[in-house]
Amino acid sequence: NSSIAEVDPEIAAVLENELGRQRDTLEMIASENFVPRAVLEAQGSVLTNKYAEGYPGRRYYGGCEHVDVAENLAIERAKAVFGCEYVNVQPHSGAQANAAIYHALVTPGDTVMGLELSHGGHLTHGMKINFSGKNYRIVSYGVQKETGLIDMEEVEEIARREQPKLIVAGWSAYPRHLDFARFREIADAVGAYLWVDMAHFAGLVAAGLHPNPIPHADVVTTTIHKTIGGPRSGMILAQTTELEKKLNSAVFPGQQGGPLMHVIAAKAVAMKVAQSPEFKERQQNTLDGARILAERLLQQDVADAGIALVSGGTDVHLVLVDLRDCALDGQQAEDLLHEVGITVNRNSVPFDPRPPRVTSGLRIGTPALATRGFGKAEFEEVADIIAETLIAGKAADVAALSARVKALTDAFPLYPGL
Ligand code: PLP
Repeated sequence: NSSIAEVDPEIAAVLENELGRQRDTLEMIASENFVPRAVLEAQGSVLTNKYAEGYPGRRYYGGCEHVDVAENLAIERAKAVFGCEYVNVQPHSGAQANAAIYHALVTPGDTVMGLELSHGGHLTHGMKINFSGKNYRIVSYGVQKETGLIDMEEVEEIARREQPKLIVAGWSAYPRHLDFARFREIADAVGAYLWVDMAHFAGLVAAGLHPNPIPHADVVTTTIHKTIGGPRSGMILAQTTELEKKLNSAVFPGQQGGPLMHVIAAKAVAMKVAQSPEFKERQQNTLDGARILAERLLQQDVADAGIALVSGGTDVHLVLVDLRDCALDGQQAEDLLHEVGITVNRNSVPFDPRPPRVTSGLRIGTPALATRGFGKAEFEEVADIIAETLIAGKAADVAALSARVKALTDAFPLYPGL
């Protein structure tokens, strides 16, 4: 019954230091968020002790009567949030949810079509050394050089030529909406399954602030920890129960053993929170924040420093900064913002001349700051700090910029009392 500080002071220090880092910096990694304390409590609970292979009411272990309640609540709430009849809440992560889709719908060697990694796709959409790229014949679509937008004519042309069995629409770094209806038409034209990976924008969908892919797709996957702001994990959804058997058996026993019941309980909490007015307000602030950031980064002083935005703006929770004509590369820009107290990640931009370890881009997202309570005024200040830092480059007045960051973090305490 000893505390972590007594049992393992080194790890206790990591927890404390990380809490301090989260409190004292501006978190703008587009895939991150701050979970509510209720989610932390569920995830750090005795449910971690429980084995529950199988599905509610059909387990391979005794003593599942309480965890069954948690899993059923997570499923029913997710159905209500996204408007669908099928949900599987067992995937341990987004990548595992995606692995289950391949397992259920295609066989190794089949052709799968997804967005090119360097144009904003995810590793599991066909990267060469990912399981997806190793086991399937991957054909990729990309964005247009001039607009930074996915060209649906090109998607159709590639699909007709390559005849994929599965088409994935979804992204890790693309600042615009996808045309789900058009993807559906193309999938139908070539007899492919349409899978939407909404990992990034699911919170916006849940709030009704982004088109919902569910009515268009055969199957949808998501993470719960990005815009949604729930526990680190994944989920599979579908409009109907048509593929239920295939999908459920692909997750268990196809991909996983025992589900993480503490995480599933935390997913249930996240799906309850997602039905609240505060959640919708937070998603609106997330979108407003990204738009404010985009507007600032499109101003002339920023353009004069050789900085642009991929696609010229944003419809979602992130912007993709294009540094191809800037004195800073992606790595330098990430490091400089880190010095000022703003955490972002460098990211390849389409047609990036630099290698993936360096890149010529930044991906900057607003979900975590919206959760922290930031509204328009704070996002304007953040946008200004970022613009001034990137324009000044190596000559940036780090002390003065850090002081402005500190004023913001002090005004919005994170996890008070934790
Ligand atoms: N799908 C997309 C589009 C993502 O952006 C990510 C995460 O970055 C994933 C799947 C994978 O999620 P996880 O990191 O939980 O495996």
